[in-house]
Amino acid sequence: MNCDEWFEKLYQILDADLSNKAVWKDLQDHMKGCQPCWDRFEFEKRIKARLKDSCGKESCSETIRARIKALFKK
Ligand SMILES: [Zn+2]
Repeated sequence: MNCDEWFEKLYQILDADLSNKAVWKDLQDHMKGCQPCWDRFEFEKRIKARLKDSCGKESCSETIRARIKALFKK
């Protein structure tokens, strides 16, 4: 898995609240050898937790995704 694939999977699993154990294991395996992705994961978790209060609905995940992707493109 490269970092782009990892990033896509991260969103799948964040949307599902880490309920997909197989995907989650793949993500963890990658993070163990990739510090930038580990940092991203911590960042995503904080953003998601922060936005959850004001959002709370499924439809918000698209907004969050677009916002975070914009951040990383800078
Ligand atoms: Zn990576």
